[in-house]
Amino acid sequence: MDNHELWQSVLAQMQLNISKANFATWFQNTQIISKEEEKVIISVPNAFSKEWLNNKYYKLILKTIFDQDNSIKGLEFVINPRSLEKKEIKEVKENTESNKIDVEQLKFDEFKVNKETNLNPRYVFENFVVGSFNELAYAAALAVSENVGNTYNPLFIYGGVGLGKTHLIQAIGNKISDGPKKKKVKYISSEKFVSNIISGIRNHNIDVFKASLSSIDVLIIDDIQFLAGKNKTQEEFFHTFNSLYEKNKQIILSSDKPPNAIAELEERLRSRFEGGMIIDISLPDYETRLAILKTKLQEKSLALPEDVLEYIASNVKKNIRELEGALNSLLIYYKTNGNIPNLETTKKLLKNFVFSPFNVASFKKIVETVAKFYNLEEKNIFNPTRRKEVVKPRQIAMFLLREELKYSFPAIARKFGGKDHTTVIYAYKKIQKENEQNNKLTEELNLIKQRVYSG
Ligand code: ADP
Ligand code: MG
Repeated sequence: MDNHELWQSVLAQMQLNISKANFATWFQNTQIISKEEEKVIISVPNAFSKEWLNNKYYKLILKTIFDQDNSIKGLEFVINPRSLEKKEIKEVKENTESNKIDVEQLKFDEFKVNKETNLNPRYVFENFVVGSFNELAYAAALAVSENVGNTYNPLFIYGGVGLGKTHLIQAIGNKISDGPKKKKVKYISSEKFVSNIISGIRNHNIDVFKASLSSIDVLIIDDIQFLAGKNKTQEEFFHTFNSLYEKNKQIILSSDKPPNAIAELEERLRSRFEGGMIIDISLPDYETRLAILKTKLQEKSLALPEDVLEYIASNVKKNIRELEGALNSLLIYYKTNGNIPNLETTKKLLKNFVFSPFNVASFKKIVETVAKFYNLEEKNIFNPTRRKEVVKPRQIAMFLLREELKYSFPAIARKFGGKDHTTVIYAYKKIQKENEQNNKLTEELNLIKQRVYSG
């Protein structure tokens, strides 16, 4: 077996084990370049592929190779700087010449939502990139789609905006509804759920809406935090939840925060949510941002120079939606000018993405974010009440001002209406201690910080 055949068998094995998107991202433009004594040398297009393959796939690759040739005891990945850039650009050039600009190809997101399920067929597992920031959520989602109603029920996915919650929960729905078992799936946004309940009450036909939900196998509700404070809707949702749950029907929920951080959520609902599986999606790191860009480009059958991609990945960090936005700006440029933006052009085109007020915390931003997170009005954080719902956010704001902005205790005291600064020290120490002992609080602090820094 020559090197090429050997590598083909590795690729075949990998394709069985990982998603299409991940396969394309990490194994494109790789090959065995030589065998040296007991080691196989594999060339990869860049440093992050090298690291990722080393960390994630080393064992599996080695095992596959070893099965073919048991003299091999190790692998080495080397970067081949020539491999990617030129080839891809050439392909695109050829493309443009032969069919000019294929406008159809560049149309974004022209998918129709399924009327029965409300699912968008664009959101599938195959184009969902997995990295350390979302791998648990991905694994749980896959498990639910393979064992509906019995694995994790409910499945509760939370995380900041634009990080893939909707994509992931819809991917579950699409996989189940396309599956062989003909299960009935329904996706509803929380806004839609609320408005259906309200109009049902107004028109005295709420039972029609409820009946439409009682016959489904999988109920997916997006952005459940939107139910906060809407008591009547929560009550109806509670009944719907119970009747589905008792019949072993699958319930999938998303939210921008964990159940215990959703203010004004009825206790009985909170405890139902906490009875299932709760998993977060956090922010993608540089490598994953780059991988996501490459997957998106493939979907659009277009290539951009490596330095352009690296520039986007290192500068557009807020979330995945922004990454897509940046990419779309470049695609529109390409579509109208017919040439691929180089690094210089890219910098100009992406000014708005890159120089958005990112990475700067401020007093205002911290207070605003904490208030919003706990569903309080900003001014109420300064309210000298002892109510628990206000005291905790206030102490957290004080803590973050100290931690993130290095405000002095007296300065914080002044900001909070001239309190004695020992009160601030007390608040700081209390949150600090709880942060060490209480994972839930740590989680909340992380989410708040993420939001402060993502603008
Ligand atoms: P959220 O619901 O958390 O606000 P979305 O699911 O709407 O985020 O994701 C925003 C955009 O980013 C969507 O276009 C989605 O397809 C894309 N996206 C999010 N996560 C991923 C991922 N892991 N791989 C590929 N695309 C993703
Ligand atoms: Mg969403």
